[in-house]
This record gives sequence, structure tokens and C-alpha cells, in this order.
Amino acid sequence: MEKTLRNCIGGEWVSSSSTESLEITNPATGESLGRVPLSSARDVDAAVAAARAAFPKWRETPPVVRARHLFKLKNLLEANFEEIAATVTRENGKTLDESRGSVRRGIENVEHACGIPTLMMGKSLEDIAAGIDCETFRQPLGVFAAITPFNFPAMVPMWFWPYAIATGNTFVLKPSEQVPFSPTRLVELAQEAGIPPGVLNLVHGAKDAVNAILSHRDIAGVSFVGSSAVAKIVYEGAAKSGKRVQALGGAKNHIVVMPDADMDRAVSIVTESVFGCAGQRCLAGSVVVTPGKAYEPFRERFLSSAKALKLGNGLETGVTLGPVVTARAKERIIGCVDAGAKEGATLLLDGRSARVEKLPRGQFVGPTIFEGVTPEMSIGKEEIFGPVAGIARVGSLDEAIETVHRSGYANATSIFTTSGKAAREYRYRVGVSMIGVNIGVAAPMAFFPFGGTKGSFFGDLKAHGNDAIEFYTDKKVVISRWI
Ligand code: NAD
Repeated sequence: MEKTLRNCIGGEWVSSSSTESLEITNPATGESLGRVPLSSARDVDAAVAAARAAFPKWRETPPVVRARHLFKLKNLLEANFEEIAATVTRENGKTLDESRGSVRRGIENVEHACGIPTLMMGKSLEDIAAGIDCETFRQPLGVFAAITPFNFPAMVPMWFWPYAIATGNTFVLKPSEQVPFSPTRLVELAQEAGIPPGVLNLVHGAKDAVNAILSHRDIAGVSFVGSSAVAKIVYEGAAKSGKRVQALGGAKNHIVVMPDADMDRAVSIVTESVFGCAGQRCLAGSVVVTPGKAYEPFRERFLSSAKALKLGNGLETGVTLGPVVTARAKERIIGCVDAGAKEGATLLLDGRSARVEKLPRGQFVGPTIFEGVTPEMSIGKEEIFGPVAGIARVGSLDEAIETVHRSGYANATSIFTTSGKAAREYRYRVGVSMIGVNIGVAAPMAFFPFGGTKGSFFGDLKAHGNDAIEFYTDKKVVISRWI
């Protein structure tokens, strides 16, 4: 019989109370990896109760001791690095190198959270009035939860719980039901690192589990990453029940390639940005905007660079483009390409019927490039989340910025140029939160905030960096007079 994953509640690995489950298959091979339970509100309730019970003691555990658990976890993550990366590839499809990169980025959050005794310090000022002193203390708030997406099975959960537990909160993680194996492994390692029972709980599931989290009165706050439609539901639902909420949504990222860019370098970086992780990255380039004379030299090189990608099983050396996550995702992406073709964009490279001969059950979409993409077209404004790029031709940097601003999303953007003036102007004027200058995937590291604006983000405090400390703590102010 296929293995059905268990939830981790109060340090015990227990079966979900739900009889519903989902089969998870390797998107490259079609091989079954096991089943994930679609947990119920009862399971969420049990996890929250365990987290609540663990809170008082964990909160009193000195930050330096909490940090030591994280140091131990960091060592365990390093020791199991290759295994975690391979698990990510098996369940998500991205190449092993891409998985390694993402696990590394995840671990950096654990490293950063190890600094919690300093990160969590408050402030103080003597004599705010004669003989009166004022101090602030940061205190944990109780139980937090995170709901995470399929595209970074190990990394995105690590954007949240290391900080939440380092600051003394307890936690319930509800990972994507499409990629449950990597998060399960991380929770096992957290247990091995000695993080006490109930501090970090894991509930597998989908919509029902999410709804139970949103309305649960004993959850103080919710971190979410996923599509904008669900981010909005989570933002509104969590706020309605009085919770803190940070909800990171979808993206439609524009890359501006100026005529003065180092074209060979730009093309190689843009190819990685657009097709890396099969385009299933919230920082993936989606529309390449080419002002003035940039268009011709870029188009030609970009096409040949995309054609050189090697489709296949991400576990195999030499493969540079893995499958998309599921058959459903493939169908949806092909639907987006069909729509683009109908709307009048020209298909320069069509990956809809791409196959990998020895992997007939793989969910492959080949690199796909449109030209003549405009902001009104669905492929110019909607998130595709697949290996599909559009090229848009504009007259100037001004027009490029205008094109970017017409998008309802504002997650990330990049500019490729050798002009400091153009780079400065772009950075200064463009209303997008994460910006790359000659960088294709502008991913802020653990010690900087991560998140967009407009339709890409709902909330105010972003993921990791100092924002995480702010999000997971209350600032208590004490004003004292002793003389
Ligand atoms: P998704 O929105 O479908 O799912 C995300 C989470 O929400 C999952 O845990 C899922 O179980 C849950 N969920 C799904 N539908 C729900 C519903 N109707 N009600 C309640 N919960 C629901 O997203 P996904 O397909 O897993 O991930 C891809 C999306 O995530 C893309 O839009 C991508 O841009 C976005 N993403 C954003 C960032 C960022 O930093 N902004 C990072 C990674 C991914």
C-alpha cells in the first residue's frame, strides 16, 4: 500500500482524522511518491492546541537557548543537504542545482534566526522626562501559522518558522499539498535538533485546513505565500478574525534590456530568469521589454539560448529544464499559450508539444517565446507560472517604465544596462519592490525583506529580514519612575 504522510502534532506523528488524501507523483517520471492527507479543521485544532500548550515554556526559554536549537538544526540541514535537495527535485521537478540553490537560501534563514538574542533586542531611553525612563521589549504573541506554495517546498516554509520560533512563538505549518515531502523532512530534522514537542507542528492539507487556520481564535498571525487570488482570501480571512497577516501573492515580472546592455551576458541571465525552475518562480522574468535598438540583437540571441535548454528529469546531470509540477499545471500553461496565440502575439518558439522520449509520463512544457506582447494581452498581464516568455518592443526607458506600471502586479523587475544613469533612474522611478540591476532573479537574502507591492502583496511587514522580527513580536513599552 502507498505510504500516506502523517501530521506532526505535539511532537507525535499522527494520522489525519480526514479520510481524504491526494496521490503525489514525480512530475518527471509519473512515479507515485505516496499520498498526502487533506486534513480537516479537527487536525488544525489539535495542532493549535499543542502549539498553545507548548507556548508558555518555550516563551520562557532564553533566546540564546532557543538559538542553540537552531544552530543544531543548521548542522543537521547541512548534513542532510543533498537528500533534501533531491526530495525537492523529486516532488517539484526543478533541476537538482535549482533545488540545491533553494535549500541553501532556506538554510540562510535558519542561520539568520540564530542571531535572535541580538535581533530581538528592544530599545531604551533614560529621562524621557525628568527621572522617567522608557524601555521597549519584544515579546512573542503565541501561535503563528504559515501556508506555503508548491514552487519552493523547502525554502518558503523556512522563510517563516525559524523566525517565529526563535522569537519564542509556537507554530503550525500547512505546506502545499502538492509538495509535502520536503517540509515533512524539515520538521523531522527540527525534532532531531531538540526543538521541543508542540513548538513546531505540521498539518498537511489544502483549502479546509487553510480555512480552519484563518478562523481559529487561538492563532495570533498568519504568513502566506501563493497565488494572488488565495493571498487575498487569506489576507481578508485572517484580518476578519483579528490576526496579523502577511500574504505574498503572484507576479508578472518585467525585465528591461537596454540597447547598451552587455547583450551576451544579459541574454544568458534572462534565459535563466525566465526558464529556470520551469518558470515556476515568483521572481521569474515573464515579459522582456526592449527599448529602441535592443530588440533585434536581444531577440536573436534569446531564441538560440532558449533552444539550447535541455528538457528532462531534474535529477540527471546536464538537464537544464525540468517538468512543471503537475498535469493540471501543464494544461493550464498550455491554455495560456493558446490564449496568447489567439490574441495576436507571435509564437517564436512553441514548447506546447515538447516531449522527453524516455519519460512519456513527464509533465514537460518546452521553452516558449512570444513576440509582440502588449500589456492588454492576457499573456502580457496575467501570471503564467511556466516556461513562457514574451518580448515587448518599446521606444524608450520611459515607455518601458510605463509598461511595467500597467501591470497589476509589482513583485520584481530587472534592468540590464551599462549606464549607471539608466539604472539609477529605473531603480528610482519604478514602482516594484524587488529590483535587479544586471541581475535576473532579484531574490533578497534572509537578512533583507522579501515581498512585493500592489497585487503581489497584501499586508505591510514582508517575509524575513527585520520585518520577520517585527511580524512575530509585539513591542511592549514600559515607562518607569523610581525617583
Ligand atoms: P496557491 O495559491 O494555489 O496555493 C498556495 C497555498 O494556498 C497552498 O498551501 C494551498 O493549499 C492553499 N490554497 C490553494 N487554494 C486555496 C483556496 N481556494 N483557499 C484556501 N487555501 C488555498 O499557490 P501555488 O500554486 O501553490 O503557488 C504558486 C503561486 O505562488 C504563484 O502565484 C507564485 O507567484 C506564488 N509565489 C509567490 C511568492 C512571493 O514571494 N510573492 C513566492 C513563491 C510563490
